[in-house]
Amino acid sequence: MSATVEETPARLVMPRFSNCLFLAIIFCLALVVQPFGLSAQTLTARADLRVQDSSISPIWRGVDVQLSLTQGVPFRIKHVNAPHRVIIDFNGLSGEANVDDIIRSQRVTDIGFGQIRAGWSRMVLTLDGPMTVGKSQMRIKQDGSGAMLSFVLRQTDEDGFAAAVEADGRGVALALADTAGVQDSATNVPEQGLTIVVDPGHGGIDPGAEVGSYQEAALMLSFARALGEALIRDGHRVILTRNDDVFVSLRERVSIAHKTQADVLISLHADALSGGRARGATVYTLADEATDAASAQLARGHDRSDILGGVDLVGQDDTVAGVLIDLARRETQPRADRLAELLVGGIKASVDGINSRPRRQAGFAVLKAPDIPSVLVELGFMSDAQDLANLTNPEWRAQAILGLVAGVRLWAAEDAELAKRTRQ
Ligand SMILES: [Zn+2]
Repeated sequence: MSATVEETPARLVMPRFSNCLFLAIIFCLALVVQPFGLSAQTLTARADLRVQDSSISPIWRGVDVQLSLTQGVPFRIKHVNAPHRVIIDFNGLSGEANVDDIIRSQRVTDIGFGQIRAGWSRMVLTLDGPMTVGKSQMRIKQDGSGAMLSFVLRQTDEDGFAAAVEADGRGVALALADTAGVQDSATNVPEQGLTIVVDPGHGGIDPGAEVGSYQEAALMLSFARALGEALIRDGHRVILTRNDDVFVSLRERVSIAHKTQADVLISLHADALSGGRARGATVYTLADEATDAASAQLARGHDRSDILGGVDLVGQDDTVAGVLIDLARRETQPRADRLAELLVGGIKASVDGINSRPRRQAGFAVLKAPDIPSVLVELGFMSDAQDLANLTNPEWRAQAILGLVAGVRLWAAEDAELAKRTRQ
């Protein structure tokens, strides 16, 4: 079947924000994100622990922990009893490093470090008695040279430690990162930031589009990691639906967004379309009826990937009663549409190469969370030579990321205002 994205007449979307505002934010972000530092990171498979710059040192009534990483990653910390231990899980950090030499405090009696499952590594500190973690912070260095996870272990009693273990059990986010905020920006991110699920399309048995030696799944994974880092730097919490070349069903991707109580899901693709005339970044939201034949073809292609991956598609939408889904969608859909508009604005302001009709809709299964504003970004089409050149150009990617982060930031501020007004 032949279809192109140029078939139907353009529907004008008038962004309420001027290009200037996007440019102001992108400029501020650029000061922090350092496109060239970022592009170098984009090509790094994952972050590494810098053993020589890390230390676990004695302080008065406690221990100071400084872990130096080649780039910021989401992490979580928890306390475990019998014996007293503190566990740090890192998302996207290589588990290969000899950490024996970083202990300079006798209060940490043992250290373990290694990969625990795909995409996750773990450090276990065995303590000589009850100590709990104070505020932890992942500081991203502004020159792009890496990140430092810092926290202090403070002496406490058995009750204090037991309380910390219990608190961990009540509500440890899957992934979190405290980051130094962006200063002097045109619009402030709400204090808490958003929980954002970034979804690199395809993976594992399903490589997505393949052109020459390039694979959509691999390109989207490295883009997602870099986008995730940039969003974390802008004050958000980020969860990747996959951080490796593994197959994740579309349903599981939506389920990850629910489990992590995501505020937003952003799915990333760069599909190929037959006909070769589809070009430029396009942002999709969910609709039963696709806006055009090419969009319908894309959504069908994604469902086919799930079938090839061995997923049973029967009963996909039966998780919540239909009427509840409708109610939730009615509230979520305009917010998703607005997010899509602002992402389009951000991309337009940051890079060349946006589709002539960048706001489209189709029945993508990954967008079907009724209660979470979800968008699918086709960053370009690998079937188009210029798009492929953009997608594989570190500078274009870094700029596009700045545009997306700016769009998310504007949406976060606007959506928080909207929520406030609705509550009143
Ligand atoms: Zn795709």
